[in-house]
Amino acid sequence: MNDQTFRLHGPSESRVALVLDSPHSGVQFPADFDAAVSEFDLRDGEDCFVDELYLPATELGVRLLAAQTPRTYLDPNRHAGDVDLELIEGGTWPHAHVPSGKASIGKALIWRTLDDGRAIYRRKLKVDEVVGRIERCHAPYHRALRNLIDRAHARTGRVFHINCHSMNSVAGKMGEGGQGSPRADFVLGDRDGTTCDPAFTEFARATLAAMGHSVNVNDPYKGVELVKAYSKPAAGRHSLQLEINKRLYMDEARRERHAGFAPLQRSLCTLIEAVIDYIATEGRRV
Ligand SMILES: [Zn+2]
Repeated sequence: MNDQTFRLHGPSESRVALVLDSPHSGVQFPADFDAAVSEFDLRDGEDCFVDELYLPATELGVRLLAAQTPRTYLDPNRHAGDVDLELIEGGTWPHAHVPSGKASIGKALIWRTLDDGRAIYRRKLKVDEVVGRIERCHAPYHRALRNLIDRAHARTGRVFHINCHSMNSVAGKMGEGGQGSPRADFVLGDRDGTTCDPAFTEFARATLAAMGHSVNVNDPYKGVELVKAYSKPAAGRHSLQLEINKRLYMDEARRERHAGFAPLQRSLCTLIEAVIDYIATEGRRV
């Protein structure tokens, strides 16, 4: 199943109770974007190549959902009601308004500013235009992810979901953690132990640390909408956000892969293999 706004990689039916999703790697720019900055600048919000980094792991029987539209056009990792009123014509939103607080840094459902603080549009957006983006991009992505998670859960009564991201190596002006803050190799986010069994977070942390990586947990990223929306640890539904530092695999200024790309792909395969093992053994208890 593929939609123009997302792609599903991996086997047609998952063989394991693990689902991957990459919401921020899309580079297909819709014709109606009408932004005031260049496509290169709009890719500022992108988790470059993250879907490709996990592609080899799909050969282990895991399905990977990957958004195709750019994050700056619409961020699936936000609630559909997380609308930035500053960006809306008239400043009011006639539907359910569910602010996350991300509007203050210009990164609500539809981004208002780039990481360096520059405005993305020279105009305000019409309500219908925003509703159209939600119907075309947000709703299908969420339906697809929910479907993958539900199907896996229905088979065994539990499911693990890794929400895959990457982060700039150093925080920008509007970045979490404060401008200039260097970041760890990986940041895991489980919204302070609420979106998955803390033992699963610890397992992922220890596995990455054993490969020689620095790993932070819930600092500065705790996870946002996609780990929150479909998780319920008490019911066997576990979601964990995994942020990879871009310096591990790409030249950030040129947005090109570097020599670290293939070794990182192998490390992620090792991690996913270990997680599949965990699900088959320790994970049975949760
Ligand atoms: Zn991301």
